[in-house]
Order: sequence, then structure tokens, then C-alpha cells
Amino acid sequence: MRISMVSEHASPLAALGGVDAGGQNVHVAELSLALARRGHEVTVYTRRDDPALPDRVRTDPRLEVVHITAGPVRSVPKDMLLPYMGELAAGIVEDWGTEPPDIVHGHFWMSGLAALDAAGQSRAAGRPVQVIQTFHALGTVKRRHQGGEDTSPSERLMLETMVGRSADRIVATCSDEVFELKAMGVPGSRVSIAPCGVDLELFTPRGPVEERGRAHRIVTVGRLVPRKGMDLAIRALRELADRGCDDVELVIVGGAGNSTGLEDDPEAQRLRALAVDLGVGDRVILRGQVSRAEMPAVLRSADAVVCAPWYEPFGIVPLEAMACGVPVIAAAVGGLVDTVVDGKTGLHVPPQDPAAIAAAIADIVADPEWGRELGDNGYRRVKARYSWSRIAADTEKAYQTALGAVAPAQPATARRSAARRLESTGGRAL
Ligand code: UDP
Repeated sequence: MRISMVSEHASPLAALGGVDAGGQNVHVAELSLALARRGHEVTVYTRRDDPALPDRVRTDPRLEVVHITAGPVRSVPKDMLLPYMGELAAGIVEDWGTEPPDIVHGHFWMSGLAALDAAGQSRAAGRPVQVIQTFHALGTVKRRHQGGEDTSPSERLMLETMVGRSADRIVATCSDEVFELKAMGVPGSRVSIAPCGVDLELFTPRGPVEERGRAHRIVTVGRLVPRKGMDLAIRALRELADRGCDDVELVIVGGAGNSTGLEDDPEAQRLRALAVDLGVGDRVILRGQVSRAEMPAVLRSADAVVCAPWYEPFGIVPLEAMACGVPVIAAAVGGLVDTVVDGKTGLHVPPQDPAAIAAAIADIVADPEWGRELGDNGYRRVKARYSWSRIAADTEKAYQTALGAVAPAQPATARRSAARRLESTGGRAL
């Protein structure tokens, strides 16, 4: 197949950890590469945010990244990009010329608008293109959790619903998202599930391990935005100290630059001040951005990785931790409910509950053998289910269904009951 990916703000070539660069960048990069390796011709369209970027970058014999000028040629927060989606669509249509792809796959709601617009223009010219959409995050969920703090454009909910109802097929990343899509009026019969994956060559249980300063270490990784719940991990450290467990350090990874660059980052400053206020400032290390190459060694150095978001559309970090054989303490929200198996590959805790995070950390550091068992199970789980080649094969099925080449996969409800049956078999679901 010839496949166009549209990822307006999240370039597969960007450095990760900044406010707008995280899981979606990884997803688009890895899925595109895995599809290219399955023999498809893949082009990723993303917005040009730097004048130095070349028009086209070939990263694999069958994979090319194309920078389209749409709006100012500089970094612009993603919540201000909506006015430029028409320009992005025009650039895509121009690049397609008389040979549009079989599939255009929008990532995030705004790319969905550009994908629908480009496909509409192509259809009008008698050249049909099937539109696939992956939302990565839903405005309804964001609004529910962030309320007045949500900086998304006011039209987001209406336009997102339109994208959901108009795309030929939706690829959701977790079962929780399927419920949300149904509530938006997207029929379950048009939804496939293909989760995110993890690079199993980079993230491995064995390899270099970063040195740590104390007997135990907890690591948390993500874009430094409040909803990632880094503050909850700091509060958990205080709770642990109150229980007499103070030989634990917390490494917080993420931010736009290295640790000196964090001086200008308001969320980093808030976290640092909180740690000092709570009397754990000497045990909280704000690492700033960590490169892909360094990340496995940082994850391996942890007794457990804490992922405590308020909500999480998918969450690739838990997969990366599991791939490194490290247990995950995860808030039981969104994709983390699918990926982390409570008591098998880590522990689920209620959202926004530092005392529960502290109790989970205490249990794991008190029994290193059990921690290793959870880590080993996690590794087996990601190896069996979350390789990018497997995710690409699942995504390819969704494309084929949209093209009418194969019958739709089981409806989402049937998949959920199958999943429940698997869970009820206990550890065999691993
Ligand atoms: N990440 C990174 N360096 C950093 C911070 C994050 O490479 O300094 C990566 C992290 O390893 C993961 C991604 O960014 O691959 C974050 O994805 P996730 O799905 O967990 O969160 P999102 O950013 O999508 O909310």
C-alpha cells in the first residue's frame, strides 16, 4: 500500500520530552518504520517549524518525512495550530499530485481535519483515498480533567466529533478510548484497536544501568505538564519518609532541555519548590530531557517506574519500563489499564493518590525478588504483545478493512468480552 501519515505537530524527527513532543512522535515514527519494513511505501507529512528543515528527509528506503509550510516557520504551541490545517492539506494534495496514496492516516484531531480535507479534494478529482484516524488524545477527556485549564481551541470538541464520525475507520489505542468514541457517536463497527508498541531492540532488560545515589530509586518519565502527575510521585516520597523509608530517590525525566534548561521551565520550578517544601528536595533529581539512547539505562536503574497521570490516552513509558524488566506502578486510567497487569507486571493505584503510590513503592522495595518477578513478567508481556511489527500488522488489517479488502475485525464489544475472558484465566493472559 501507499500510505500517507499526517502528524501536524508531532514530527517523527523531533527531540522528545518538551511540552508538545512525546508519545505521538514515537508512535508515528515507529509505526511508519514498521509499516515500511512490511513493504509499504510510507510518507509522513508534518509542519515545518524551523527554516533549516529540508523539504524531504528519507529515513528508510520506503519511508520519507515531508515538511510542509503551514503557518509560521517556527515552533508554535499545538493549541494554536488549527488555523493552518487548510494550508497543511493544500501542501499534502500538492505533494500527492495525480498519484494519491491508498490510505491517509491522521494522527491527533487537527491532522484528521487536514487528512479529511486532502482526501476530499482527491475524491472530488476522481481519485479516492481512505481516511484513517488515530486521536492519541481526546478533547472530551482533556476537558473533563483539565476544565478551565484546557487551552485547546473552543472548536475542538465539535471538530473532533466530526472527524470521528467522518473518517472511514478509527484506530483507537486502548479499550477505554472505544467507550469514549462511542459516547461521541462513533459506531463501534468502524473502530479497530491497535495499541502503541515499544522498540524491543532498544529497550531490553540487559544493558548499561545508570548509577544511583541511594539504596533505592524510583523513576518517572514524561513531558513536564501537570497532568502527568510528577508532583504525586514527590508527595509519595514524603509519605514514604513518614513511614521511615527514606533511602529512596526519585528521578524525574522530561522537560525541554537539559537540567540547566529547566531553570526557565515553570513546571520544573513548581516541582522543585514542592520537593523542597515537603523536605525531600535532596532526594528529587530533575534530570531534564533524556535522549532515546540513554533512556533504557535510566529505566533499568529503577526499582520501579511510577506513571501517575490524571488520565492517559495510552502511555508508552510503561511499555518501555516493562521492556527493560522494571515493574510499573501505574494509575489505573486509560491505556494503563490495558498495558499494566495489576499484581503481575506491576501495581495499579487509584488516580491522584500519593499514599497508594507510596504503599506500592514500599511493597516493591521491601521485596526485591518480587520486584524482579513483576519486571520479568512485564518483559514477557511486552515481547508477546507490543512489538511495533505486531502493531503494524494490526494497523495494516484496519487499513485493509477500510479498503474493503477484508471483513471488519470482531466488533469492539466482542473483543472486550474476549479480553475479560482472558483476564479471568489469571496469569495465562500474559
Ligand atoms: N521521552 C524521552 N525523553 C524525555 C521524556 C520523554 O525520550 O526526556 C519519551 C518517552 O521515553 C516516551 C515518550 O517520550 O517514549 C512519552 O510517551 P508517553 O506515551 O508516555 O506520553 P505522551 O508524551 O504521549 O503523553
